[in-house]
Amino acid sequence: MQKRKKFTRVVPDEIKVSELKIDDVTCGATKCDEGYHCYSKKKTSLRKYGEQRVCKECGTDLIDWERIHKNDINDSDFVFEQLRTEIIRHVFWHNQIQVEALHATYLQGKTKTREKALRLLKSRIGKYNNFMDGRQTPMGKEEIVNYAQHATATCCRQCLEAWHNIKMEKPLTEQELNFCTDLVMKYITERVPKLSADPVDEEIAKKLSYEHNKH
Ligand SMILES: [Zn+2]
Ligand SMILES: [Zn+2]
Repeated sequence: MQKRKKFTRVVPDEIKVSELKIDDVTCGATKCDEGYHCYSKKKTSLRKYGEQRVCKECGTDLIDWERIHKNDINDSDFVFEQLRTEIIRHVFWHNQIQVEALHATYLQGKTKTREKALRLLKSRIGKYNNFMDGRQTPMGKEEIVNYAQHATATCCRQCLEAWHNIKMEKPLTEQELNFCTDLVMKYITERVPKLSADPVDEEIAKKLSYEHNKH
């Protein structure tokens, strides 16, 4: 099959959002007429509309920013619902997670996965790096934390500022890092509901991860 180009802006009419795969999109993609916008490009929005918190392609604002910016983990269902109105987030919520990533996650168990998530978040977004920002978190593949970071807008400092109102240049406090880790874990436990706190053995991990993608 021929590999198609990544959509960096408007997804063409003939392609449905439900058909989009992780490799098809970047964080600038939009399909405004189907209700999928892009709020992560604040500078573009500001230049075009004189407003930072509107869709950079159509200028709409469907987001309750005041509520989102409370960064209240107990309100994560609402935060996730709003995040999914961006194509890039939507795609990471609705595409399958690669079986290798699931397998590794079951082998680790929830407790170790959280430790790993915290470690990755700290090294990737703990401090702002002008040259790397936007590229420090790989797209999905064999690491579940990658999926979770893109889905929750904790993938880079630009997304983090747009969605969670944490200034780009400021090193993350322990509290902010914990909040990001909690969001990532909420995504993981929602996508992998059979994940137990402790590691499982190889045989069970294999069985669970293959069963997972069957439906
Ligand atoms: Zn739009
Ligand atoms: Zn990002």
